[in-house]
Amino acid sequence: MEILHEPKDMQQWVRAQRRTGATIGLVPTMGYFHDGHLSLMRLAQQHADIVVVSLFVNPTQFGPSEDLDRYPRDLERDMLMLRREQVTAVFVPTPELMYPPGFQTEVRVQHLTTHLCGRTRPNHFAGVATVVTKLFNIVQPDVAVFGEKDYQQITVIRRLVADLNLPVRIVGGPIVREDDGLAMSSRNANLEPLHRASALSLSSGLSLARELYRKGERDAASIAATVQRHILSFPFTAIDYVSLIDSRSLEPVQQADAHTRLALAVHIDGKVRLIDNGLLSPSPQDGNI
Ligand code: AMP
Repeated sequence: MEILHEPKDMQQWVRAQRRTGATIGLVPTMGYFHDGHLSLMRLAQQHADIVVVSLFVNPTQFGPSEDLDRYPRDLERDMLMLRREQVTAVFVPTPELMYPPGFQTEVRVQHLTTHLCGRTRPNHFAGVATVVTKLFNIVQPDVAVFGEKDYQQITVIRRLVADLNLPVRIVGGPIVREDDGLAMSSRNANLEPLHRASALSLSSGLSLARELYRKGERDAASIAATVQRHILSFPFTAIDYVSLIDSRSLEPVQQADAHTRLALAVHIDGKVRLIDNGLLSPSPQDGNI
């Protein structure tokens, strides 16, 4: 497995691979891998000859009071997992290599980023869009794979790619969950055992919303209110948002239909912020709950 740190070395390596006619798949990550990340690497292998994983905890997508310092990291373990997945190359830059002195450019997707996570994390998606644009320019992938766990993120990236005519195809991977329903997340490692039961309020809230929809409830405010009450019935929970949105526009809906998605963000004990989402009427390929 090739390990590259410098953007220009990565560009050079990828250019040589391209000359052999190989297609390139990129999986951008912040590391501390779990099965969700691995599922995206396997998906990338189905769509491209060579898979490049980027591993970079991007400081510009964290707000000043967020968990950049506490974000879990274990490079040695991650490298072992990448080798096991037969990833061809890993790009591991430092913040200084990505944002050298004098750096001053930002990519901002306007409207989609004002909803959901963008409300409480006003600069988060500008950080994401900028780093992803840089990664696309450095790795020049044919295909890039993102998880639907971060549903707003993949929607913003699809918009970015369309708006800027970036020559890359975006593929989404379904949410991978623990056996008990908790969506896998690197941040789950920061959950204390006492708080883990409260973290399940998100996935069980999603199941509850689906149950209401299945029974015929279509009033979005009523479904959201029931899910909110459910989440708040667990100790240590504080709601950032419980929103019923249109899957394409991310706009809130009043009447739920086949395109309606529940999107959730919940703080657990004020320390760990978790997100989850899903269609109210999922088809079997939409995930495992
Ligand atoms: P992260 O390292 O958390 O920035 O995530 C890297 C990629 O993995 C993003 O595209 C995420 O959406 C995706 N991802 C994170 N958790 C999951 C999960 N449980 N299932 C599927 N994809 C995930």
